[in-house]
Amino acid sequence: MGGSRLLLAQLRPYRWTVVAGGLLGLAGGAAGLVQPLAAKVVTESLLGGRPVAGPLIGLTCLIVAGALVSALGRYLLALAGENVVRRARDRLTGRILRMRVGELDRLEPGDLMSRLTGDISLLRSVTATAVVNGTAGLALMAGAIVMMAVTDLTLLAVTAGVMALTCVVMALVMPVISADNQRAQAAIGRLGTVVERAMGAYRTVKASGAERRETARAVDASATAWRHAVRAARWQSATGVSGTVSTQLTFLLVLGVGGARVGSDALPLSSLIMFLFCLMYLSNQLGQVISAATQWQVRLAAVRRLDEVDRLPSETDPPASPPAGDGSASVAFSGVTFGYDPAAPVLREVSFSVPPTGMTAVVGPSGAGKSTLFALLERFYEAERGTVEVDGRDVRHWPLEALRARIGYVEQDAPVLAGTLRDNLRHARPDATDEDIHGVLAQAGLSSVLVQLPHGLDTAIGHRGATLSGGQRQRVAIARALLRRPRLLLLDEITSQLDAGSEAPLRRAIEEIATTMTVIVIAHRLSTVTNADRIVVLDGGRVRAVGTHRELLTSDDLYRELAAGQFLPS
Ligand code: ATP
Repeated sequence: MGGSRLLLAQLRPYRWTVVAGGLLGLAGGAAGLVQPLAAKVVTESLLGGRPVAGPLIGLTCLIVAGALVSALGRYLLALAGENVVRRARDRLTGRILRMRVGELDRLEPGDLMSRLTGDISLLRSVTATAVVNGTAGLALMAGAIVMMAVTDLTLLAVTAGVMALTCVVMALVMPVISADNQRAQAAIGRLGTVVERAMGAYRTVKASGAERRETARAVDASATAWRHAVRAARWQSATGVSGTVSTQLTFLLVLGVGGARVGSDALPLSSLIMFLFCLMYLSNQLGQVISAATQWQVRLAAVRRLDEVDRLPSETDPPASPPAGDGSASVAFSGVTFGYDPAAPVLREVSFSVPPTGMTAVVGPSGAGKSTLFALLERFYEAERGTVEVDGRDVRHWPLEALRARIGYVEQDAPVLAGTLRDNLRHARPDATDEDIHGVLAQAGLSSVLVQLPHGLDTAIGHRGATLSGGQRQRVAIARALLRRPRLLLLDEITSQLDAGSEAPLRRAIEEIATTMTVIVIAHRLSTVTNADRIVVLDGGRVRAVGTHRELLTSDDLYRELAAGQFLPS
């Protein structure tokens, strides 16, 4: 869709507000158009020695009424502008939160934030300035031209010649303004990306002494934005000046030619005065149209960037699915091949199954594709070949919400959100009671930590849980997953930040949990999974072997090697 059509599409839901605002603006403007007529009447009255009080009072009333009507029109247009911004914000926020995980791997969150704030704000004045002022300005210009034509065709021809020149200049400059604005907005998006990147690894930036380098990157993006914005401003003011100059030039020419025509009695003086009033009016409207056209170019740049967000593919649900049963979930991978980049498969022909309840461990070297198995179970990505089933149903045929409600997932780096401990836990289940929360905290071995927190569950735990230790963050993430009352618990490397003393109780707690639900754990430290009901050994994206610790020690070389490297008794 072309940029202008996209902009107009933003206005469509509020078209009646825009039309009402536009009509009121037009009525207010038309009141101004009567002024030249009134001026002619006043002049004729003065020259004819008739009283001028009546026409003067009438003129004043017209001006006041016109101003009031215009103000109401402007308010309606501003209202429509705010509505456009709000609707776009709500829609795009929803779009960003529902897009596929793979899209976020590709995009820059900082740039998305800048589009959601900066670019959307630019839409605000689309209605007010550009559409209506432009259309109304053109309509009122047409009205003025008709009046000028009726008054004197020769003077109109003089006016049209100069004005045509202005139009040519505008047509040449507008695309340049649009391109520069788009580049400026893109550079602001890059600035957002730089800042978001630095804030996301704030301590690393400081520890690496990289503040200056990161600042330089931000300054560079900011300079690019400035350069393009200044260039656009230069052209914008050039178009404004060309409008003013052409108006002044026309005024002088009309005065000269018109004066000569009055001198030769070809034109009455009152008609010349009326024509000059019309010209003033026309030049005002022309200024308005020029300003609307340049504003339109700025908005075009923003709406194109917003449209890119609007087109991000969302996660989709299958059309209709029967409700899922209760009880622990079973899992089956059958011939699954998947790669983040289809040309480089991460998983190849992976097949194994996990019956309901009990603990299954996935082990293997770093980069083998273990976390990817979890990503496919949560349907963050879809397998290229083969099927991933939960409870005997392909995950592609599950309603996403129902699928994810069945699964408790603790990511490898156990993300914790800013807010209180209670907010973090309830994030997974907003209706959880304090009793539920205390229950899961005990299961995750956090009860003793809770006692030490100054405000208990209401303690703020900082940006990304900065006030907690790494191990505590992991256990908060486990408690959060358990609070969801999942049927399938996926734990990715959850003991990596725990000492042996804290690991043993957590391992026992997970073994206990595995008696009531299906638990799949990814573990580097084999000591945590020796008691698992089955262990899947993954290597280079393929399943090498499946068995218990004892079986694998005898049957699989890689497993034996891993166990020997970790001093596990064979
Ligand atoms: P580790 O034990 O180190 O956590 P893993 O066995 O869990 O590793 P995965 O995280 O599944 O391995 O990654 C498998 C491969 O896929 C790696 O080569 C990794 O670089 C790649 N990979 C993982 N996530 C993505 C992603 N979002 N986009 C592109 N490639 C990815």
